[in-house]
Amino acid sequence: MANIVAIVGRPNVGKSTLFNRLIEERVAITDNVSGVTRDRHYGQSVWTEKYFTVIDTGGYVVGSEDTFEGAIRDQVALALDEATVILFVVDTITGLTDLDKEFANILRRIDKPVLIVANKAETFERQSLVAPEFYALGLDADVYPISSTDGSGTGELLDEVVKHFEDEGVEDPDACIPKIAILGRPNAGKSSFLNALLGKDRSIVTDIAGTTRDSIDTHYKLFGKDFILTDTAGIRKKAKVHEDIEFYSTIRSLKALENSEVCIIILDAERGLEAQDIHIIAQAHNAKKGIVLMINKWDLIEKDSKTADKMGKEILERLAPMNYMPVIFASALNKQRIFQVIEKAMEVYEMRQEKISTSKLNATLLPLIERTPPPAIKGKYIKIKYITQLPTPSPTFVFFCNLPQYIKEAYERFLINKIREHFGFGGVAITVFFRKK
Ligand code: GDP
Ligand code: GDP
Repeated sequence: MANIVAIVGRPNVGKSTLFNRLIEERVAITDNVSGVTRDRHYGQSVWTEKYFTVIDTGGYVVGSEDTFEGAIRDQVALALDEATVILFVVDTITGLTDLDKEFANILRRIDKPVLIVANKAETFERQSLVAPEFYALGLDADVYPISSTDGSGTGELLDEVVKHFEDEGVEDPDACIPKIAILGRPNAGKSSFLNALLGKDRSIVTDIAGTTRDSIDTHYKLFGKDFILTDTAGIRKKAKVHEDIEFYSTIRSLKALENSEVCIIILDAERGLEAQDIHIIAQAHNAKKGIVLMINKWDLIEKDSKTADKMGKEILERLAPMNYMPVIFASALNKQRIFQVIEKAMEVYEMRQEKISTSKLNATLLPLIERTPPPAIKGKYIKIKYITQLPTPSPTFVFFCNLPQYIKEAYERFLINKIREHFGFGGVAITVFFRKK
């Protein structure tokens, strides 16, 4: 779970100034994906090698006086949901105000660490005379005099902020978060799928700029798990020139693919499996990414109780030997099984990381190999001595043997099937190597 620092406070205390200081050169992203406007401002920051996401909740309080209290509640509700630490910003030029007290009343009910940031404290007077006034808010929180404009005091503040982080060791904010790419040919329903997810669950945590503007990574929380969806759906709509569509979508898919661990590949149920789909699947397979096939627009198919089974089998048969992935029949339009798709993708992610011990591999596979050894070639017998899994991102097994060059592809496939039979790895490409020993 990423560390999130939320900045709250009444208008004009300097929230966005503080936000900009905290993220400094790191770009704040306020994007507009699939027509969903996000009014939170996010950015990445790091202090003493601890990474965190900063949310400037200030964008929320723009309403008129009578909606202000509601706006405060929204702001705080967000902070409550998402924040690890809350920075409650107050203003040492104006001193303590009634709105600050209102805010404090709401914050009091929240069971999260709150730090009072006494901003605009450039002068000695504001630092040592005005700032302590905010202890009168009666929050169980310390007051940190700072200046967002010149940066003074922010070091002490951040020293305290990072003390509240739970995951100490995380160096890269996204290092251990599954990255899922949504792929599929144009019109398969990628945007619709993303919209369906967005509409149902708004707990998007953060937006991070991709290396280019070709894709936006959106950080989600669902089922108590974090993941990042690489959203490539919006771009095509911007490509005005029609001929460019194929080109753009291909480039985008490749990029999204590269950056992901698992791909949700969307097919159009009405069209079935076509060459273009197979091409995308093969790319994901070759890149050794986890794969979930989502057969979309299932609502358009006339079906009985056997249709899904039959179609699933047909598709997998045609994909052989790339036929190890889960297939889910879904409708982005009706939001049918869309969360199951995500759940499966998470399962596949876990599978991809699974490590089987050498002793377990040997105990399971060596007897099977003895029963069905590789066929002898030119009177030479091939003897597999032991098997080990490499510490690679996707499951890779090395079979140590006397004559690795004589092992044929059919036998390789036999071994892969046996590994699947005994250890699963659904949705994940398995690689095997033969080495001389
Ligand atoms: P927000 O509405 O809380 O996001 O506040 P802003 O960041 O927009 O700041 C409101 C005003 O306070 C702006 O005119 C800022 O220049 C000013 N301001 C912000 N931080 C400081 C500070 O540390 N010192 C001083 N003197 N002014 C500040
Ligand atoms: P993309 O190009 O892959 O992003 O595809 P879109 O999400 O833009 O969808 C292409 C078309 O298919 C749109 O007209 C959608 O309304 C439609 N569509 C997407 N998903 C479904 C679905 O589950 N059922 C039906 N009936 N139509 C869908």
